[in-house]
Amino acid sequence: MLAAISAAREGASVTLFEKNDRLGKKILSTGNGKCNYTNEVMNASFYHSSTENGLIADVLSRFSEQDTIHFFEGLGIVPKVRMHGLYPNSETAVSIVDALRLEMENLGIKVYTGCGKVKVDKNEKSFIVRGESFDRCIVAVGGKAAPKTGSDGDGYFIAKKFGIDVVDALPALVPLKSDANWLKEVSGVRAASELSLYINNKFIHKSIGELQLTDYGISGICTFELSSEASKAIAQGKKCFIYINFLPDHTKEEVFELLQKRAEVLKKRSMAEFFIGLFNSKLSNVFIKKCGIKAETSVEKLTDKQLMGLADAITALYVPIIDTCGFDKAQTTSGGISLNELNKNFESCKVPGLYFIGEVTDVDGICGGYNLQWAWAGGFIAGKAAANDKD
Ligand SMILES: Cc1cc2nc3c(=O)[nH]c(=O)nc-3n(C[C@H](O)[C@H](O)[C@H](O)COP(=O)(O)OP(=O)(O)OC[C@H]3O[C@@H](n4cnc5c(N)ncnc54)[C@H](O)[C@@H]3O)c2cc1C
Repeated sequence: MLAAISAAREGASVTLFEKNDRLGKKILSTGNGKCNYTNEVMNASFYHSSTENGLIADVLSRFSEQDTIHFFEGLGIVPKVRMHGLYPNSETAVSIVDALRLEMENLGIKVYTGCGKVKVDKNEKSFIVRGESFDRCIVAVGGKAAPKTGSDGDGYFIAKKFGIDVVDALPALVPLKSDANWLKEVSGVRAASELSLYINNKFIHKSIGELQLTDYGISGICTFELSSEASKAIAQGKKCFIYINFLPDHTKEEVFELLQKRAEVLKKRSMAEFFIGLFNSKLSNVFIKKCGIKAETSVEKLTDKQLMGLADAITALYVPIIDTCGFDKAQTTSGGISLNELNKNFESCKVPGLYFIGEVTDVDGICGGYNLQWAWAGGFIAGKAAANDKD
């Protein structure tokens, strides 16, 4: 939609073909229905891609978060900032879809909805889409995440048909599955946590936020932030695990000292009561079980070795990761059209006039408005370039 607007504003005659019966179905589910459409803190480090050729930074410099804010302000969207994320002041994603739809109407863009799986063909002069000829074609069909919203990987078939290289698509921003037995006991617990991801025993990176523990594994934004790398590692058969620190910003030694002081004050309690007010009781049970301590043991009988064991369980609880929850539960896709195949305006190097933008490209951002920013920026740049390309 943004690509169509950008091209039409440059004077091009534009037609948009949509598989679903309505436009922007996925946008409606973004940001819990409120649409986190960009972020005040924006740079290339918030994105993953298997190609590091500077394109992401270049694109963000040519269509920044400020450009997104101004673009939508021009369509009547008043921004509201929450934890650096930008939302429409109306607090509903419907506003974003409506604003785009109205601007398309305003510009006279032809829109066909309910088209099913649209294919792209090419003869010597033109691209052929549903029997109509076009000088340029912008493929903005999304990746494979949340296929119920319409995006189920068609863009990769279109690319491959033209001999364009596609990096394997994997689920990202997705809950992770684990076979750790103790998870069954803590299902439903949420806790502020720091997660450290390890792949083949090598530390990759950390994330902090509210962790959701489930019987199948872990979820929540801090999990999502590690999921792109975890997803790739699992697909490559690598060993993948996460350590959870349930007292973020505290080292094991600091927690040991904290527990020593706590044991002094609460010495008359049993171990079943020791963590009251510090952790959810389901979680406390896991910690004491991990250390082989009985619930009825008196706190004053705890040895320093046991306290150190508890400090270890609290700051580095081991979670082996065996899989992701798949595309149905994913918010975005890692992999897609290789950035090596595209020029700086998202045009295919092999097939001039054919552009790929948004989630269909091999770029995935973290949570917080980054994936939509990538889609808007690609739309603006490719739309403008396609309209002005005179070859
Ligand atoms: C639950 C959820 C929450 C999210 N929340 C956020 C958020 O708050 N902020 C954020 O930045 N990102 C969020 N995302 C990610 C973001 O929505 C996507 O990355 C973004 O929408 C990608 O834009 P796109 O235009 O590339 O693809 P899409 O938005 O997927 O649009 C592609 C369109 O192409 C259509 N289509 C597919 N195949 C064909 C075909 N063959 N022919 C014709 N049409 C076709 C689809 O029906 C769809 O309408 C969220 C995703 C999900 C699933």
